[in-house]
Amino acid sequence: MSASSASNGVRQQVFVLVGGTGDLAMRMLWPSLAMLDQDGFLSDDLRIISVAREDCGTEACVDRIGAAVMSRVGEWVEPAALKRFRKRIVHVALDAAHDNWGVKLKDELGDVDKLDIVYFLSVSPSLFKPICEHIEKAGLNKAPNRVVIEKPIGRDLATSKIINDSVAHAFDEARTFRIDHYLGKETVQNLIALRFGNMVFEPLWNAQSIDHIQITIAETVGVADRLGYYDEYGAIRDMLQNHLLQLLCLLAMEPPSSLASDALRDEKVKVLRSLKPITAANVVNTTARGQYGPGFADGHPIAGYEAEKGSPSNTETFVAIKAEIANWRWAGTPIYMRTGKCLPSRATEIVIQFKPLPHSIFGAEAHANRLLIRLQPDEDISLTLMNKAPGLTAEGMHLQPLDLSLSLIKAFDGNDDGKPPRRRIAYERLILDALNGNNAQFVRRDEVEAAWTWVDGIIQAWTDTHMKPQMYPAGTFGPVSAFRLIERDEGRVWND
Ligand code: NAD
Repeated sequence: MSASSASNGVRQQVFVLVGGTGDLAMRMLWPSLAMLDQDGFLSDDLRIISVAREDCGTEACVDRIGAAVMSRVGEWVEPAALKRFRKRIVHVALDAAHDNWGVKLKDELGDVDKLDIVYFLSVSPSLFKPICEHIEKAGLNKAPNRVVIEKPIGRDLATSKIINDSVAHAFDEARTFRIDHYLGKETVQNLIALRFGNMVFEPLWNAQSIDHIQITIAETVGVADRLGYYDEYGAIRDMLQNHLLQLLCLLAMEPPSSLASDALRDEKVKVLRSLKPITAANVVNTTARGQYGPGFADGHPIAGYEAEKGSPSNTETFVAIKAEIANWRWAGTPIYMRTGKCLPSRATEIVIQFKPLPHSIFGAEAHANRLLIRLQPDEDISLTLMNKAPGLTAEGMHLQPLDLSLSLIKAFDGNDDGKPPRRRIAYERLILDALNGNNAQFVRRDEVEAAWTWVDGIIQAWTDTHMKPQMYPAGTFGPVSAFRLIERDEGRVWND
């Protein structure tokens, strides 16, 4: 149901998309906004201002936006809704390097005391500081106005503090929304529902019952045109410090007292602070670094990372880590995480491997239970249970594993129009929450800093021990050391 805000005496909402002509905006943000509008989540009088360096004019910019929306979600677009959406948008050409940035934006906004402004900074983090300064200088930062910022929040603890400080001058923490788009994914939010909406898991969710946990984010693509950025970051900074550690937090945190933003984030930060430091003394046995070499991945021959770059590189395109959480719930249950590029399949999945039976009356036929939570490409949760194999045998009863499976796509296939269900873009949830001022699914400053503190320690240990990335052929599941990392612990293998 649409709602009018200004007409109700409430402040009129304005969504200012800085970087409105960029890649992220075109692929994710505009399609998300258009779908939120079509589904009635935007107030009737909400305005959207696209700000970018390019002086393309509103008409041409809106045409590009319309084309981007059609290319991403065209199958579900209702023409009348898109027409209405296009009318909300104004494009303003402003270069952050110019001092009149804030003044010109203020001219476009009108009476700012009657507005509720969300700034979405979809630009390089090096621009956060000048843009926030412009916003502040023009008096456009006052509550309830808030800011949404994209990763990367730094490349280590020191640089993340500089970025956070530059934003904090204009917006206090409660009005700073740091995106980790994994937190907007339906299946990631479902982890909270699964753990805290069911009684059956919680008594078993600990080191007494769980042998180990695996978290994998595997990509088939290489670095392509992101090489300039990627070579500075590598897999540990680009994927592990944020997405993998956020998944780890949701899996390992204590039950929060409510879904209120700080209740949830207080529990997540405790997990990050409980991670056992990895140092030069144990880094060789607890981490694996890899870099893809020549091979075949994503349906194409791959020349290899260094050949693509044209020079030697010490950047890892694969990382695996055995993490341990030093608290009562998890001591003794390792969490193996891995992520990489040019791997054989695209998958994000979590494996909760339960312990074997304390005493099996079925001999070796009784396998330990396993909960598999698949986030990508298909969304699926399955629990492997042991069953009696049907039929008669002379020797008596035999067991077989069977999967109790909950396919989320099938579960939500409520359409009667014959169309496949639309999978929401993760940014839809996050933009809606930002508009509503709910920051529970955004990352708090202390979370970012606790994650960097742990990751910085690993990178330092790599430097201290001269641990270079080990080459793996593109199209394989990482270097040999990644297999050794888990197989060193008897009876454990990656779930490939
Ligand atoms: P992009 O280079 O495609 O777009 C950058 C946008 O910033 C453009 O609209 C450009 O006009 C604007 N801009 C650049 N310099 C400016 C200036 N001086 N003044 C005003 N506007 C200026 O970048 P992108 O890929 O869309 O990424 C945007 C941000 O999102 C970056 O921080 C990036 O790290 C992050 N991010 C991008 C992706 C992605 O898939 N593209 C994914 C995650 C995070």
